[in-house]
Order: sequence, then structure tokens, then C-alpha cells
Amino acid sequence: MDYAILVNMLDTNPASPGHVLAVLRAEGPLTRQELQERVGVSRVTMVERLDALRRTDLVRQAGHRESSGGRRAELLAVNDTGRTALVADIGQSHATLAVVDLRGTVFARQDLRLSTRHSPDETLPRLVGEARSLLSDSGRAESLCAVGLSVPGQIDHETGVTTAPPTMREWGSVRLRDPFADAFGVPVLLENDANALALADYYAMGRPEATVVGVKVGTGIGAGVVIAGRPHRGETGSAGEIGHMRIEGSDRRCSCGRRGCVAAEASGQALVRSLRTSGARSVEDVVRWVSDGRREAVEAVSAAGRLVGTVLATVVTIVNPRYVRLGGAVGVLPPFVEALRATVEANAHASALRKLDIAASQLGDRGAFVGLSGLVADEMLSPATVDALCRRRQGL
Ligand SMILES: [Zn+2]
Repeated sequence: MDYAILVNMLDTNPASPGHVLAVLRAEGPLTRQELQERVGVSRVTMVERLDALRRTDLVRQAGHRESSGGRRAELLAVNDTGRTALVADIGQSHATLAVVDLRGTVFARQDLRLSTRHSPDETLPRLVGEARSLLSDSGRAESLCAVGLSVPGQIDHETGVTTAPPTMREWGSVRLRDPFADAFGVPVLLENDANALALADYYAMGRPEATVVGVKVGTGIGAGVVIAGRPHRGETGSAGEIGHMRIEGSDRRCSCGRRGCVAAEASGQALVRSLRTSGARSVEDVVRWVSDGRREAVEAVSAAGRLVGTVLATVVTIVNPRYVRLGGAVGVLPPFVEALRATVEANAHASALRKLDIAASQLGDRGAFVGLSGLVADEMLSPATVDALCRRRQGL
């Protein structure tokens, strides 16, 4: 794990149970002796801390290590499989729900089609109802510790209120957290969908000590930046809105009300519009046509890759990431990836290209779950949360 993340996690009493768990999470499995040396406390203190962590079911045995003299030492690891999260990715025309553990293992999932221009009044009660049955069918309701939701809009993380993308007008100023918190009585974490995608690839790569930019091109266009293990959200949660950067010379009206945005020319929605005369009705049609090698679709998707590549070259020059990962139904199409890569290589600062690795995300439609379960794990296994849990368990 990245050292910077470890330091973030250790921003607490350096000998608290939460601190001990953070070290075990970053470096485990470890023997008690090794853990004691890493944390730098006495044997007695370590025994106490491990007792507290065992009472809250946060550590588990992970086999044994042979030591010199033929003694076998018990290995300890974080129990990231015993707690359950309910995660949901809410999109413009669909939602997916899953029951996962804090390692991202999916125990149950459900895909829901939503009507175009669906409203929170119809969708949120439906999602809560479906989530309740999915959780109960999975048999893991007892260990539910948090809910994680991703949406394609900006989020005020203090209030849990959304600012919707222009194509989901009714989702502006929605109290997204409340219905789930009321229904399940656990913390509810919210994340922008492009941030969740960037986090997913970051987690799936084993939390590298590197900056990751995730670009999602589906119905709309968004990007997320993960720096030192955390999403860079910006002052108003709008960091990464590359879909609404302007393109020189374009005058096409965008769903945001302005003209000349990248999304007006290169989003899935824009591709459907430009291929309508050929009979395209949905983003699924565009994806299928590209797989079938239909020339007009391949050319349109390549042109979209060049446009997104133009703005991404600026992002790459400013942020200087190691990894760019592309997701979304359009973002992973080979002609899109190739055109985008060539454009970034032609336009970004040479030095920013030296270590740059651009590729389609390999996570497919599991991306949102991986991102959200990792986000829940980081929150629920953070030193502050763990210390609070241990204090409650002790009745202090
Ligand atoms: Zn726009």
C-alpha cells in the first residue's frame, strides 16, 4: 500500500486499536510479534489492542508461519470478509445493486432498467425496496455495516445532496443519503460515478503509489482523479467534469445549455444522435455496430476518441498521472481507446507522457462495485471508525 495512504490512516493515536488495524491492513498478514515491532508498543499493549480488535471481529487468523526452532507463529489479518456493504450504481437509464464484502466479493447483484428521465420520487423507493430483498436473500443482512452509492452528478458530501447532470434534471438537490440511512440504519457513502471508476481501477491495481485518472464515456462523459489513494473532488465536488470543457470551433448545443462542449460531440448520447440517420436508437446500438465493424459507427467512435483525447491531453499535462483508465460502454471500445491514446500522445507535454499508461479498464460492469466496496472499506476500517467501534463495544 502507498505510504501516503498509510500516513493518512495513521492520523490518530499511534497506539490505538484503529492504528494497529491500519498497520495490519497495509502490511499484513503479520505475526503478533511482527505487528508489535511495526507499531512500536509493548507486548502487553499489543495483547490489549488485539483483544479489542477481536471483540469487534476485525481481525482473523490467516494461517501460520514457520519460525526458527520449529515454532509456528499465528498469522493475523484484517477481517475484511465478515462485514457486508450494500452498493448501488445509479445511472441515467439503469441501476445496479449488489451485496458485497469489504474486499469487493459480490454475493448477490441485481440490474434494473430505469425509464429515461426517471425521477428520484419513483426510483429511490424502488431501489430501497429492491435492496432490502436482495440483502435479505443474500443471508448477510446481519453483518451490514454501510451503504455506498454512485451517481453521475456532483455531490455535496456534507449534506448528502446531489447536483444532477443536465440530462438528469430531476436529480438536482436530492437528499440521496436519507432514504437509505432511514431504511438500513447504517452510514451511507456517496461518490460521483467517474470517481468511483477511478477508485475501482486504483484498488484493482493493488493501490499503487501513483496518480490514476479514470475517464468514463457512457451516455455522458466524466473523469475522476485519484491522488495518494483519495479522489480529488475539488471545492464544490465538480473536479473532473471534462465533458463540459469547450472545443474550439464547435457550436453544437450541449444538454448543459451551453454550446461547444465535448459531451455535445463525443458522449454516447451525441453518438446516438449523429448515427440516428443510420438507424441507431441507443448507446447499445452504437456498441454493437462497432463490434460488427460497421464503418460509420467505427468512424464516429474514433472521432469521439480524438475529441476526448484532446481535452485529456490537457488533463494529463496538468495532473501528470501514471495511469489513465477508460470505462463506460463507449470508453472501452477499441477504436475509441486507440484514437484517444494517439491524440493524447500527440498533444500532451512530452515529459508527462514518459511514464503514462493508457488502457481500457478491465473491470467491466463490476467497476462500480469494486470502487464502492473499496470506498466503504477505507471508511469503515479507518482508525477513527475502528476506535469509535472499540470504545462502544467496551461501553466507554
Ligand atoms: Zn455542456
